[in-house]
Amino acid sequence: MTKVDIPEDSLYGLANLPYGVFSTPGTEPRVGTRVADSVIDLGVLLGDDVFTRPTLNAFMSRGHEDWVATRRRITELVSGDVPAEAVHEVADVTMHLPIEVADYVDFYASEHHATNLGRLFRPDSEPLMPNWKHLPVGYHGRAGTVVVSGTDIVRPCGQRKAPAEPAPTFGECRRLDIEAELGFIVGTGSELGSAVPIEEFERRVFGAVLVNDWSARDIQAWEYVPLGPFLGKSFATSISPWVVPLLALTAARVATPIQDPEPLPYLREHEPWGLDVDLSVAWNGHEVTRPPYREMYWSPAQMLAHLTVNGAVSRTGDLYASGTISGPDKNQRGAFIELTWGGAEPVDVGGEQRSFLLDGDEVAITATAPGTDGTRIGFGSVTGRVLPATEAQR
Ligand code: MN
Repeated sequence: MTKVDIPEDSLYGLANLPYGVFSTPGTEPRVGTRVADSVIDLGVLLGDDVFTRPTLNAFMSRGHEDWVATRRRITELVSGDVPAEAVHEVADVTMHLPIEVADYVDFYASEHHATNLGRLFRPDSEPLMPNWKHLPVGYHGRAGTVVVSGTDIVRPCGQRKAPAEPAPTFGECRRLDIEAELGFIVGTGSELGSAVPIEEFERRVFGAVLVNDWSARDIQAWEYVPLGPFLGKSFATSISPWVVPLLALTAARVATPIQDPEPLPYLREHEPWGLDVDLSVAWNGHEVTRPPYREMYWSPAQMLAHLTVNGAVSRTGDLYASGTISGPDKNQRGAFIELTWGGAEPVDVGGEQRSFLLDGDEVAITATAPGTDGTRIGFGSVTGRVLPATEAQR
């Protein structure tokens, strides 16, 4: 038996206990939790086969009561002596995609981001579309290209046409960008033909991850009218490997900004709440922006209610992301197209002036939030490095 040492300032104290899927050399991926600088093998700790699986889906599908009981049990066991064979150093493990992604939806819930993008993409009209304050705007993304943090991102190719060009050309993306977002994972789904009432959010959503919604702005700008994002987004979406349980985020709840006009009844919450999560985006190791999740206009519960209000099925493993997180200040913008105002105002990245991503660049998004015991809890990071387009693509 051994004891897990937890320094007071650890972002992975007992208030966090995120779930992830890890392996050590020569072993199969399985479920663990992170405590300080250790990864605890939950199959060994709890003696439950559901944690020997290569994704969290089977555990998540057991439902909210089980999530509460499991979290309580882990807290008790980790506070005492744990079997030495259950404990691995973080540095010794490989992290994997934590869930089998069922469907993937991306929203557009930041008023600051939607306003900035509206100005950039449609300079001659109102930045917010007439529907924006009545419903959480979203689109269906591609579940199969959701990848875990650390996966290299190959520069996509596609059709591009700058406004001044007479015709589209095919080639590699020239305006490769990021979107810093929070993603919510559905633990227990809903039947075809039934809507998830807004108050069921807490029982159905298991946890949250960091999301980088890589975006090819030139491909997107040419293709997106009238049906929305398609190939400019679906080449890659990265998520962080540790799923922070919603149960760990109770102290991070904050009221959303005032919603005016009042939403329709199915989107009405007694007090709509978001999360006080502070994100940081590092470009080649240099912090360039700090997006605040507390600024998001639509709440995560409103997003889930809207996603299912037409009777669409939701399933264990569904991932829905918030959309780019941007605050009111320039250094709070969660996409480089906003941060550099379409490339017109480059930012300093370690002495170099940058607007969009170059081959070899690496982006790391990290985040923390207040924990229930007065400490801060960490989401870890979602990273990715840009590789050149391949000859086969071109
Ligand atoms: Mn997005």
